Amino acid sequence: MSVIRERPSNTQLDCGHGAIFDPAPFIGDIVYCHQCRDYSMVASGGMRRIFVTISCEQCAYERNYKNITETVARVRADIHTIKFRHTVSVVGKSGSLVYRSVPRSLSNRYQKYPEIGID
Ligand SMILES: [Zn+2]
Ligand SMILES: [Zn+2]
Repeated sequence: MSVIRERPSNTQLDCGHGAIFDPAPFIGDIVYCHQCRDYSMVASGGMRRIFVTISCEQCAYERNYKNITETVARVRADIHTIKFRHTVSVVGKSGSLVYRSVPRSLSNRYQKYPEIGID
């Protein structure tokens, strides 16, 4: 099983309070504010959901995601790159390139971030 974690974030809530969540929530999520003792919406500091297509330039691998964070999209692309040593691109809804995973560029990443587990 892969374990992909987002980093904790300093989140600003709609009620004006700040809170630290680990893992970071999404912007627009409803969370519990301990200072208000009520629910509030994540205004900033959270993750953004993006729509992307992850596709390999060297094989038929292609996946569409409607609800993914950029971090997770990058990791999914990297996993394919590491397994097959293929170049994988992550393209946003507007057709813009979000990230390109090239085999050579991945040498030390998973030593630096051991919390990103791969199969
Ligand atoms: Zn509050
Ligand atoms: Zn491939």
